[in-house]
Amino acid sequence: MSDSRHSSEWRVAVIGGGVAGMSAACALAEAGFRVQLVERRGYLGGRASSYLHPGVNEVIDNCQHVLFGCCTNLIGFYRRVGALERIHWSSGMTMIEPGTGRRSPLGPSKIGPVGLTAPLHALPKLLAAKAFTRADKLALARAFRALLRPIPPDTTEDLASWLKRQGQTTGAIERFWRLVIASALNADLDSIALPYAAKVVRELFMNSAEAGRMGMSTVPLSELYAGAAEFLCGRGSDVIFNANVESANWDGVKEQWSVTTRDGMIAADFLVLALPFEATAKLVAKMPPAEGAAKLAAQIERHEHWPICSVHLWFDREITDMEHAILLDRELHWMYNKGRLQPWRKTRGSYLELLVSVSRSFAALTREQAIEKALDELAEFFPEASRAKLIKAAVVKEVRATFGVPPGIDAARPGAVSPWPNCFLAGDWTATGWPSTMESAGRSGHIAAEAVCKSAGMRRKFLEPDLKPRGLMRLVRQGTGNRK
Ligand SMILES: Cc1cc2nc3c(=O)[nH]c(=O)nc-3n(C[C@H](O)[C@H](O)[C@H](O)COP(=O)(O)OP(=O)(O)OC[C@H]3O[C@@H](n4cnc5c(N)ncnc54)[C@H](O)[C@@H]3O)c2cc1C
Repeated sequence: MSDSRHSSEWRVAVIGGGVAGMSAACALAEAGFRVQLVERRGYLGGRASSYLHPGVNEVIDNCQHVLFGCCTNLIGFYRRVGALERIHWSSGMTMIEPGTGRRSPLGPSKIGPVGLTAPLHALPKLLAAKAFTRADKLALARAFRALLRPIPPDTTEDLASWLKRQGQTTGAIERFWRLVIASALNADLDSIALPYAAKVVRELFMNSAEAGRMGMSTVPLSELYAGAAEFLCGRGSDVIFNANVESANWDGVKEQWSVTTRDGMIAADFLVLALPFEATAKLVAKMPPAEGAAKLAAQIERHEHWPICSVHLWFDREITDMEHAILLDRELHWMYNKGRLQPWRKTRGSYLELLVSVSRSFAALTREQAIEKALDELAEFFPEASRAKLIKAAVVKEVRATFGVPPGIDAARPGAVSPWPNCFLAGDWTATGWPSTMESAGRSGHIAAEAVCKSAGMRRKFLEPDLKPRGLMRLVRQGTGNRK
């Protein structure tokens, strides 16, 4: 579809106000389209959002979300809507052991004022880490060296079998591969395709210090997106809240979509479905018959959810001076000191968020059991927790947190072009080459926005370039994100 209309005469309905929908909508509004962003909830952010938790009377994130320097499209979206200055960056992570509380910092090193060249920048701290034995370190060095070679993107090998082939020790597997890498991908080792694991290791530890720095919001997640709603409204576009889209129909004569919500109809020239895979399946089942629709439905069927749980605890005193930590050898995986990361909260005492990824057994616990377990384990890392008084607590279970990336999953990740005319797909699960992350969502939004522009006869670029690997890593062929 292409005619002589100016972009401001084109109407686009973007369904879903998560990171994918917001980044598509803002890019299109910038290009001059009149966008209606339609969200079923009363706030933006989707799986990365915050809300007033009635039990603790505090605005909390549904879960701590971190980004990394390599997340160029998410950063581009944040920059576009003025959210970037609300991100606090941290160059390292610290592992902490239960019982002794012994700490092992990981991250880039410098010689004097000069940073070491990639991939050596992270090596000194890894080699000095007390959390690993000599044998663990040798095994990790061996695996990192293997990642200097290209991984065939179509390999069917999973991470568990590759680790076996690389002779990884139990310490390296449990404390690095399971806790850091599999937890970032939120899946079991044998359910992770090797190229996705390689991508995470390279971006976080090998490509450059900039790619591996970790960012955390200093405000609740939905507040980060206030700028997105303002950005849209300031450009003649709009956000429609509390509007669950029930169906979408194409009028071939008017060449127009009509989107049905409980409260009425929205007409649009273009449609972007920026939904999680299960919501996409529900909606496309009610769309007009189209060639390729059955293939899309079959692709969606292959996706699987993985859960993440978080326990939020408020104490009458400081438990630790650390901003965040990787908790070794227990069910809890990550600690975020939200009171410190978000000083505007003026928390009396402290507010910690504890995360359990790949948490099928933790998700089965009752609220009371989850809090008790979190308190017991926390005291093993930070003894002050056993002396402190717990003021209040909240448990958030996200059973549909992320989709898995097992071998072969790329064949089940569709591109932006859908089987229907003027209808495009976005969402973290679509073909971005990234695992289930905000970056994948942001990237998919930019890809879909470019596809809409192309269909309207405009050439616009929204996809942000990847960060270039530095040093020796420039010589490694890493494969790029898919875009179809
Ligand atoms: C607990 C947890 C922890 C995570 N941690 C991280 C992390 O640290 N770093 C990271 O990068 N990623 C993390 N993720 C993953 C990240 O949140 C997602 O990959 C990303 O937010 C997905 O964005 P999306 O826009 O593709 O989908 P969603 O966020 O799911 O957005 C889809 C939107 O569509 C709306 N919707 C659904 N159906 C309809 C309908 N019929 N009509 C209208 N609207 C509808 C939904 O309400 C939602 O707002 C985490 C996820 C969870 C749940």
